[in-house]
Amino acid sequence: MPPIPSTRRGLVLAAAALGTTGAGAPGYPPPSPIDSGNVEGGRIRFPDWRAPADPPSGALPQPLPPGERVGFAVIGLGRIALEEVLPAFAQCKTARPVALVSGSPEKARLVAAQYGIRPEAVHGYAEMERLRDDPAVQAVYIALPNGMHREYTERAAAIGKHVLCEKPMATSAEDARAMVAACAKAQRWLMIAYRSQYEPTNRAVIALVRSGELGKLRFIEATNTQANGPGPQWRYSRQLAGGGALPDIGLYCLNAARYVTGEEPVELTATTLSPEGDERYREVEESVAFQLRFPSGVLARCLSSYGAYQDRMLRLQFERGAVTMPHAFDYQGQRLVVQRRVGDVPGEEERIIRPRNQFAQEIDHFAGCVRENRRPHTPGEEGLQDQVLMEAIYRAAAEQRPQHLRPPAEATRGPEPQQG
Ligand code: NAD
Repeated sequence: MPPIPSTRRGLVLAAAALGTTGAGAPGYPPPSPIDSGNVEGGRIRFPDWRAPADPPSGALPQPLPPGERVGFAVIGLGRIALEEVLPAFAQCKTARPVALVSGSPEKARLVAAQYGIRPEAVHGYAEMERLRDDPAVQAVYIALPNGMHREYTERAAAIGKHVLCEKPMATSAEDARAMVAACAKAQRWLMIAYRSQYEPTNRAVIALVRSGELGKLRFIEATNTQANGPGPQWRYSRQLAGGGALPDIGLYCLNAARYVTGEEPVELTATTLSPEGDERYREVEESVAFQLRFPSGVLARCLSSYGAYQDRMLRLQFERGAVTMPHAFDYQGQRLVVQRRVGDVPGEEERIIRPRNQFAQEIDHFAGCVRENRRPHTPGEEGLQDQVLMEAIYRAAAEQRPQHLRPPAEATRGPEPQQG
């Protein structure tokens, strides 16, 4: 970075040399290159305007023109689709929603109008195959109850669409395997929407573990609880949900223990719990506690429940410090607190990680994979491994004895995502 000119003539010359984007408005001194930035290789850049003592600002968003983005059909217009996924597209740079599939025509028409989706791109479940003939749709985002994920993944792959499917991937390992096979056969990418793996504070924790800054990781504690309301809801149906708290929210603890260590568990124990006489928990469990042992010796204790006040905490204990993330699995509000010795006293510091919409990060990652034909960071194999482990957790709870596990033959994750 050259020194900043101190005279007006110097500024004008520097601006000309850097090819700034404009001379400024008439009647005012011209903007300096620091103020107006410049265009380089089709990207807008601003030099850092702060001194090195301050952290630099992040890179500018460089959104693609809408016509060049990957077009998604959102399948299922429930809470996650309407509260998080569709709003997140506004922050996406390489993806856009272009079609809807829903069983509620009135709701779908309203949503289409809200998001500028063409009325002819709104379809019922039975007519989903019409997406085949819509070149604007390259991928689908499946936001249906878990027990429907397999069918809609297979149908989407069969009409040539790439699939971003909500977690949990399925209601059994068998269904998850069939989904991987269907997408492989159709040569379409399949990604499971593990949003936490694209969330910047969770990514910072992974980097911290890998750096060895606090020594070896020893123990993990992961909690995901919430207080659920009355039924009927699909979440209390075995057919539609596949289980209770475990596949819905306990999955975040399981998946985090795996992505934080970068290892696969070799042994697990578990207990499930449901209040007697509570109709909601006739088919699925209310609560689950499980413990995982990893090859490096890390032990993870995980707790998940539909019957306790919301808590989405991840805590890591290292040889030389500890990390607490009070809102690790929330949609927002992540925090990262590090405890360690500072001189002769115990210290505590908070690291402020720039927040990003994790749904937008996740969708953009998948859109990038589709555009550049590369394997997603959380492909179907990542979801399949969690399904295998959840089945082992249920077995451990039913038999009340430890389950010994064989790691998958190949790595379940694709290349690390880039943070946009
Ligand atoms: P929801 O109940 O709010 O929405 C489900 C949608 O599916 C509704 O539009 C409903 O009409 C439709 N549907 C179609 N057939 C149905 C049937 N037979 N029974 C019930 N609904 C039917 O659920 P949601 O919370 O949006 O969850 C949808 C998916 O997203 C699930 O797989 C869930 O695990 C996942 N999810 C992910 C996150 C996340 O943070 N990534 C958060 C919540 C839910």
